[in-house]
Amino acid sequence: MKIFQMPDALANKIAAGEVVERPASVVKELVENSIDAGSSWIKIDVNEAGLEQIKITDDGEGMAEDDVERSFLRHATSKIRNESDLFHVHTLGFRGEALASIASVSRLTIKTSQGDSAGTFLSLEGGEVLEKGKSDARKGTEITVSDLFYNTPARLKYMKTIHTELGHITDLLNRLSLSHPEIRFEATHNGKPLFKTPGTGDLLQVIAQIYGMGVARKMLPIKVETLDFKINGYIAKPEITRASRSYISIILNGRYIKSIPITQAIIRGYHTLLPIGRSPVVVLQVEMDPILVDVNVHPTKLEARFSKDKELYTLIEDQIRTTFRQTRLIPEMEQKSKDIPKQSFQRSLNFDETLPVARESWQPTNDTDTISYQQESIIQKLTEKQPIVNQKDNEQEKIYTQKEFKQTFVHQEVNTNQEEVIAPNDRVPAMYPIGQLHGTYILAQNENGFYMIDQHAAQERIKYEFFKKKLGQTSNEVQELLIPITFEFSKQESIFIEHYKSELENVGLFFESFGNQSYIIRSYPNWFPKNFEEEVIREMIEQIMQDERINVEAIREDAAILMSCKRSIKANHYLNNDDMFRLLEDLRKTTDPFTCPHGRPIIVHFTTYELEKMFKRVM
Ligand code: ADP
Ligand code: MG
Repeated sequence: MKIFQMPDALANKIAAGEVVERPASVVKELVENSIDAGSSWIKIDVNEAGLEQIKITDDGEGMAEDDVERSFLRHATSKIRNESDLFHVHTLGFRGEALASIASVSRLTIKTSQGDSAGTFLSLEGGEVLEKGKSDARKGTEITVSDLFYNTPARLKYMKTIHTELGHITDLLNRLSLSHPEIRFEATHNGKPLFKTPGTGDLLQVIAQIYGMGVARKMLPIKVETLDFKINGYIAKPEITRASRSYISIILNGRYIKSIPITQAIIRGYHTLLPIGRSPVVVLQVEMDPILVDVNVHPTKLEARFSKDKELYTLIEDQIRTTFRQTRLIPEMEQKSKDIPKQSFQRSLNFDETLPVARESWQPTNDTDTISYQQESIIQKLTEKQPIVNQKDNEQEKIYTQKEFKQTFVHQEVNTNQEEVIAPNDRVPAMYPIGQLHGTYILAQNENGFYMIDQHAAQERIKYEFFKKKLGQTSNEVQELLIPITFEFSKQESIFIEHYKSELENVGLFFESFGNQSYIIRSYPNWFPKNFEEEVIREMIEQIMQDERINVEAIREDAAILMSCKRSIKANHYLNNDDMFRLLEDLRKTTDPFTCPHGRPIIVHFTTYELEKMFKRVM
């Protein structure tokens, strides 16, 4: 006989290899258990990035005495009982693997009570129970995991620096707290405060804690409900951008997930408002009937599969677009007063606003922001002694106390409520040119102050919307080419061309095979921009390969950007007063007057008040 069933201890250790990859995975499993237990407060204390010790304390429902030992058995769970439960999972865990796995690779103690009588105490080493006894009756559970991986030296060797492991933990806590603003999270590292959320249920407060007050102030609320979905969250104004997509957080039924198609829908929602290569800061909570969601993917993976997905993508994209269409997005310039500490200024720089400002002395902001900005610097002074490690920017962040939150957010709420809904054609106020600077910028004024407009960007926007409309109207009529174009494609490309031949013909492209991977094109759809036929055709093939379908809309869009850019007035071009006036009026009529099609800003505004402040006419 060759085949033996493994002893449980060995099976658990193997399972631990999957579930418990690093200290952050232990924190994840334990905190998720606390969330599942209905806790309203969860405390996370880690030492040496969790390699020495991880202690999680909660005020959840706790466990009865006879359940405690059972909870450490493999596949022991209170969360599902039968197959049908699997399709209605509303807890974060349900596999019953975490406690068994964690216990098998550490020294673990648990104290738990349901609050009505004395609690239970249990200690384990490598998954074996060492001691069992009574503990106090405080309702809730406290689990301490020490010497993680003490009996799996190979795994221990894979641990990176304390800094990296702690980074994973803070990253995880960020996600968990964004998913559960109603829970008060408190975390310490080596006894020092690391992270804290107020647990008021206000997502914006959690955002402020994680990304800083500066970002929170520039978030617009988003809220929409259909029969199938409920979406709630915040999207940053396009002036706040990041280089990576990791600032987009998607939460599905209280569970943080990664979803490329949802992320893409968000980016499409921002449309041309984002500079190329930049990503927004977004937190979206999506709720839907659990029956539509398949959570039974790999336990440590963050993906989710769900039905009616296309509907959800469209809903998100449209809602973001609508939100921006209703908001005035001109960044305003504000002079910073001298007494703001250097450190806080440094911090705003890290937020990386991509705006055309002389950053030494100017910061873009809304004019209602002045007070809260100063509040922020006060908060910074107050909390100077409590640095925490922010894994993303590796900068010193501050912990805001409950009171400071309130102070700042009283203001924030006002600010959000005041976000006016503006008629489409009135988002750029009427203004009158007073001159041109360096042949590049139009200077203009009105009763609200002084404006600078990038003339090239403005014209690009106008032309882009013009071409886009024109391209959208033309049919698929074709036009003969004087000289046919010969294309050579790669093997892979030609496979796609063959496969999509009839779809391509439907949109007016007839690929005539010419042997090998060569094709001749003798005509092209009427809407193609002149002189760019070849580029557009190549782009179309690239798109088919990527999306596996033809999206004429997107192609037309790119063609419009191409044409608007090539045909717009460049910098260093003299404009007389009438030219400038006409340009500004045309700009006002566009649907997105604030950024050029590449996402660069078009207008900046100096309010009258700011001008007066600059010259000390007001203090
Ligand atoms: P799962 O979460 O998949 O059920 P776990 O191994 O993580 O599996 O936990 C096993 C069981 O232990 C849970 O189903 C739950 O009943 C109980 N449990 C674990 N942690 C806690 C906690 N903090 N409070 C109350 N019960 C808990
Ligand atoms: Mg669990």
